[in-house]
Amino acid sequence: MRKPIIAGNWKMNKTQTETVELLNRIVENYTDVEVDAVVCVPFTSLSKASELLDNTMIHLGAQNMFYEENGAFTGEVSPNMLKDLGVEYVILGHSERREIFGEEDDLINKKVKTAINHKITPILCVGETLDERESGVYLDKVKTQILNGFAGIDSGDVSKVVVAYEPIWAIGTGKTATSEDANNMCKYIREVIAELYEAKIADNVRIQYGGSVKPENISELMSMSDIDGALVGGASLDSESYLALLNY
Ligand code: PEP
Repeated sequence: MRKPIIAGNWKMNKTQTETVELLNRIVENYTDVEVDAVVCVPFTSLSKASELLDNTMIHLGAQNMFYEENGAFTGEVSPNMLKDLGVEYVILGHSERREIFGEEDDLINKKVKTAINHKITPILCVGETLDERESGVYLDKVKTQILNGFAGIDSGDVSKVVVAYEPIWAIGTGKTATSEDANNMCKYIREVIAELYEAKIADNVRIQYGGSVKPENISELMSMSDIDGALVGGASLDSESYLALLNY
């Protein structure tokens, strides 16, 4: 049984003061749900968020991480630093990191392995561009990202990774992939993981869909066979819509 996981990706939004306001509203109105609820806040809000979420059912996540533990890596944040703040999840390889900051599969793979070694759950993002979808190479693109993302990961650690399938053309655009298209890709990702390891292992991997998920479309997406959750940008920035997502 795969426990659903709904993660908010706040991206570069919310000052520390705004974080406190939003998290207080979420915590005050949160009702127990059968999902893992995660908020991935900016680095500058992690410390405050960690205090506020202590002893609550909301899990804390970061949006990126470097693969070294310390050293001359100006501007980077290490796994130890995140662990020290009580971070349990980290988004890795988000398409904005790939596209704007030039992160490639090899770097992302190092980060995924480091997260596992530090007992932080990596949320490994994969997904194709509109051009790749339209030209028909989208399955190959995502397969390559999965094969490279899981390179060198022991079979016993595979289910520690959460995969987020996020078609780039659906992120922040209001365009959602149809539930069938999203599910087909999540199913395909599971098949690729099964080929790489075995079906039993792939069956335990949680795969999220991300791309303009909102309260209006989440229940249909979550009813699909291979979609185990959502990674949500815009709709996670408001307490009412975030809570509605958790209560899909
Ligand atoms: C995201 O940032 O991962 C995302 C899916 O954004 P949005 O929900 O706003 O499309």
